[in-house]
Amino acid sequence: MAAESDAKTSSGGYSSANDGSTVEECQDMIRRSQRTPMVKFLREHLEKSGCEIGDNFIKAIHCDEQVSGGYVRGEGIMVCSNHMNFQDEVNQVVIHELIHAYDDCRAANLDWANCAHHACSEIRAGHLSGDCHYKRELLRGFVKIRGHEQDCVRRRVMKSVIANPYCSEAAAKDAMEAVWDVCYNDTKPFDRAP
Ligand SMILES: [Zn+2]
Repeated sequence: MAAESDAKTSSGGYSSANDGSTVEECQDMIRRSQRTPMVKFLREHLEKSGCEIGDNFIKAIHCDEQVSGGYVRGEGIMVCSNHMNFQDEVNQVVIHELIHAYDDCRAANLDWANCAHHACSEIRAGHLSGDCHYKRELLRGFVKIRGHEQDCVRRRVMKSVIANPYCSEAAAKDAMEAVWDVCYNDTKPFDRAP
């Protein structure tokens, strides 16, 4: 079972005190994130799909790697406390990883070692979570607006899939291109991209 990890969400640069939070602070932010409409919606749909998640499903941990969080089948969602400074960042990671959990739940044959499967879930998580909303992109210093959303999703999909030990850069790129249209347009459990 391959662990899936995502590129760091924050670009930093907000202030000099951007050194993350403690595990306890992050756990608090995870608790607060559970009240947001997107998180509630995704949890409801996980439940409807037969994958009810308990309160220990999402954990704050200290991460050595430059990732914001991850989802591992059978273990749950991790949020990297030392890379989280704001509630909004935690919400974003939780939403992104819940989309992976939803994909894992609804597709019995999802194989995280398969670069196309992984790329598909990253495309969906990147698109549907709002990771690439233009305001977030401006904060990261990417100022090109036209086509920015898809460029941003592609960039982040590549980062995540390359980190999969089963996927070389070339394999990640091929996989992403092969499944792009189908997976970008698959907005379940939303009617359309939120
Ligand atoms: Zn991801």
